[in-house]
Amino acid sequence: MKFATKAIHAGVHPDPATGAIMTPIYQTSTYVQRSPGDHKGFEYSRTHNPTRSQLQAAVAALDNGKHGLAFASGMAAIDCVVKLLQPGDEVISTNDLYGGTYRLFTKVYEPLGIKFHFVPMHNMDAVRAVAGPKTKLIWVETPTNPLLNVIDIAAAATVAKECGALLAVDNTFSTPYLQTPIDLGADIVMYSLTKYMAGHSDTVMGALVVNDDELHQRLSFLQNACGGTPGPQDCFLVLRGLKTLHLRMQRHCENGRAVAEYLRQHPKVEKVYWPGFDNHPNHAVAARQMRDFGGMISFVLKGDRQADAIAVLEKFQYFTLAESLGGVESLSGHPASMTHASIPAEQRRKSGLSDSLIRLSVGIEDAEDLIEDLAQAIG
Ligand SMILES: *Cc1c(COP(=O)(O)O)cnc(C)c1O
Repeated sequence: MKFATKAIHAGVHPDPATGAIMTPIYQTSTYVQRSPGDHKGFEYSRTHNPTRSQLQAAVAALDNGKHGLAFASGMAAIDCVVKLLQPGDEVISTNDLYGGTYRLFTKVYEPLGIKFHFVPMHNMDAVRAVAGPKTKLIWVETPTNPLLNVIDIAAAATVAKECGALLAVDNTFSTPYLQTPIDLGADIVMYSLTKYMAGHSDTVMGALVVNDDELHQRLSFLQNACGGTPGPQDCFLVLRGLKTLHLRMQRHCENGRAVAEYLRQHPKVEKVYWPGFDNHPNHAVAARQMRDFGGMISFVLKGDRQADAIAVLEKFQYFTLAESLGGVESLSGHPASMTHASIPAEQRRKSGLSDSLIRLSVGIEDAEDLIEDLAQAIG
């Protein structure tokens, strides 16, 4: 089955009771048993819920994986993976990690005795330098936020195999439309379904996809034991969103290219970060592992003044200033004062996060309108 057909059909089937084409929202906490233990596979909705089961199957199919697990948020999905570890275990991750993941790793799990190495993972030598027998998890996020570095998933899989670690990939920015990490050697794929997967900025959810039966059992045990599961209504919304994932992603990519190219020739723009440019430092890796380059773009203004960036952000008509990304509507953000404000200014500048850096999540509106909006805001 090809991708678009999977997005619509995989994992879902008409309701056996009524023939309803769309997966019903099974808004129930429990299920009747004829006699103790005699039931239809559903006992309690933290453990199993039919709406969630269909979503889990759909997400797994899109990622060419065997098993899907849904969570109440992307963070709950990541938390479930870290709970596979023991004190003394080591994790390698990238130094421009999603802020929430960095917070979970350093504020929750470091005090419990897990050691984290944050290295520039687009340079695999930096990963090898800290990898060893204690490495139990390599956590990749690609492309990264907001500088759009691209990490080589297949190369990370080789390092993970060498030290007997699991490789997990946060695929939130790419979605399975752009890249399928399991095909590149990853053990676990993680999503904030909140973003492109659900795609309509109307729900918060997360997911994991794995191939290995034993790994699935361990994660499934944690999902039920720790209880960070989503409700059926939210599962329904994500299922509905997935049906247009391919169409939305196609337009996000087309609009992303148009916006990136417009910004690149703008006299007031100093630099544009977008992995589709052939002079992007990781373009070759991106071209190899991704099917297109997505709609996430960052840019820096000439002179690099924060006040100029804020003036642009205040003038936007369609690029609404808000946290989050991946919805049908275009969004803008200012990492230096929003998502990355807690990092000291000096350190921000060192990692290339300029004061005038603006991050765009390019939506699926008409590209002409988006470019007109950029033109009037940048001036
Ligand atoms: C949003 C996001 C998360 C966290 O997901 P939530 O659904 O907000 O909990 C993790 N990783 C990336 C890359 C994200 O963008």
